[in-house]
Amino acid sequence: MDIKEKALQLKELIDEAESFVFFGGAGVSTESGIPDFRSSEGLYNDKKEAIPPERILSHTYFKMHPKEFFAFYKSKMVYTQAKPSVTHQALAKLEQEGKCKAVITQNIDGLHQMAGSKNVLELHGSIYRNYCIKCGRPYGLETVMTGEGAKLGEGRFEGIPVCNCGGIIKPDVVLYEESLDSSVLQESVSLIANTPLLIIGGTSLNVYPAAGLLQHFKGSHLVLINKESTPFDNNADLLIKGALGQVFEQLT
Ligand code: NAD
Repeated sequence: MDIKEKALQLKELIDEAESFVFFGGAGVSTESGIPDFRSSEGLYNDKKEAIPPERILSHTYFKMHPKEFFAFYKSKMVYTQAKPSVTHQALAKLEQEGKCKAVITQNIDGLHQMAGSKNVLELHGSIYRNYCIKCGRPYGLETVMTGEGAKLGEGRFEGIPVCNCGGIIKPDVVLYEESLDSSVLQESVSLIANTPLLIIGGTSLNVYPAAGLLQHFKGSHLVLINKESTPFDNNADLLIKGALGQVFEQLT
């Protein structure tokens, strides 16, 4: 069966179900020009990086080497020009039609909201929320990127966004060694536990605890759409090995 036929099968499942929940990862945004982590063109295979990205994106590294952290973060994690893809747009439309109950995402790029989705649970936070680690004052992305609204440090602190109180401004994204927001996690568990149809897309399902969410699914159909194999392929009732855009363009 080719990808178009499988997409039509998915369309039937969506039509039959009262609603569905979508759980996605970095692969949802590759068609918006944002590289994922683990595929061959992904950030983890970028041999130019001397220090592994997992280490740079850790809480310890942020604390110990904020200048290098922000240099990496600003150049590799933030894509201000990115626009929603066919998949983001289709999910927003399906929400408006009352079919997509929620999008649970591991992405931090805000593209689901930009496409118009309202009920988005961001397991790993967002580049658009930032706060001072000393006084808690919130800041937008602009301050992190350019210092506008506060300032960027100089000398040893060059390029580091600094609050007016002197504290470092930290992106509200979950770094390695940090825990997920418990209310977002609980709501995600509840949504997955109660949906009849779960559509998972663009995630290698390698990152815990996000990947562990699957064990809560008790509904009738699990759909898995990914370019590469995942450890959960055998659990899928409908497995679509291909590009999300090719599937979602058939759904609207
Ligand atoms: P991952 O890189 O581990 O896996 C992405 C998966 O998506 C791969 O298996 C790949 O084959 C697949 N894929 C890529 N493009 C696809 C497409 N067009 N259609 C279908 N499948 C496609 O990503 P992950 O599982 O989300 O975990 C990585 C972590 O990286 C997450 O915690 C996330 O926070 C972070 N991250 C976020 C962004 C973002 O916000 N856009 C980008 C990179 C990484």
